[in-house]
Amino acid sequence: MKCRKCDRPARVVLHYSGLSLCEQHYVEYFAKRVCDCVERYRMLRGARRVVLAISGGKDSAAMAHVMVNFFKGLEFVGLHIDLGIPSYSDASLRAAKNLAKLLGLPLVIVPLRDNYGFTIEELHAHRRALLRPICSICGMVKRYILNAETLALRANVLAVGHNLDDEFSVALHNMSLGDFEALRKGGPVLPEENGFARRIKPLYESYESEARLYAQILKLPSTTVKCPYSKGATTTRMKEATRRLEELYPGFKLRFMRFYVKKLKPLLVERAEGVISRCAICGMPTSGTICSFCRLRSRVEDVKRKSVRAV
Ligand code: SF4
Ligand code: ZN
Ligand code: ZN
Repeated sequence: MKCRKCDRPARVVLHYSGLSLCEQHYVEYFAKRVCDCVERYRMLRGARRVVLAISGGKDSAAMAHVMVNFFKGLEFVGLHIDLGIPSYSDASLRAAKNLAKLLGLPLVIVPLRDNYGFTIEELHAHRRALLRPICSICGMVKRYILNAETLALRANVLAVGHNLDDEFSVALHNMSLGDFEALRKGGPVLPEENGFARRIKPLYESYESEARLYAQILKLPSTTVKCPYSKGATTTRMKEATRRLEELYPGFKLRFMRFYVKKLKPLLVERAEGVISRCAICGMPTSGTICSFCRLRSRVEDVKRKSVRAV
């Protein structure tokens, strides 16, 4: 099969539109799609300095590559959190450094152990006492640190590499739980307000397979080592469970997420309740007195103290 735009052989046929493209035209197509998403949702309006969250994986590599190459007038800084998960974190850190070098991007590295006194590996060991699945704890930790470090870097926008499949899985999971609050906090852009930097998702309308292919064709540095805890994660299971849905109804996830952003989320925002105040310990935004991150830290210290006493 030939590329729809030239005479070269097609490397990909887009499952939701039937468009066949060669490598070069696919790269152009993907970058334009991401740029269109950034424009459509006005992600960079009023951006001063933009932090790019670089996990070491393919999604954030593809996201950072498009941002740095297609939004030239802006100042970008890469941010990587070293989660302290054996072998996975080392490989991720290496990939993040190589990507930053390739893109000419300054990279700030935040080692969880040095800066916050714990690692995800330790939290995993104490997960029962912490009463939450490890990915839920890790997700909260990453959200908190990315926001805090973005503000510390005097940036007002934080870009993350979440793709359409990630976002669809999370939205579906939150719907199944009836968690309106979490659904209200979803979407391609979370505004800069109440102590939060604006959080943007340039890959919001790009499938995981599309980002992966872009990164592969351009040979962007990224790790193939998977987090050992990803296997049982809810988003991983949701992705597996909904693969068939996308095969039967090509473009289903994209249509669903556009419906969520345009019709559903505005209703939820209208009905939003609760006031955002400041955490009495760290000063970051919270709906209670102490934020979830500080509550986690004090719980981790308790658990560690108890386990030392038990020994
Ligand atoms: Fe964290 Fe879970 Fe992702 Fe591993 S799979 S990095 S524990 S959120
Ligand atoms: Zn072509
Ligand atoms: Zn706090």
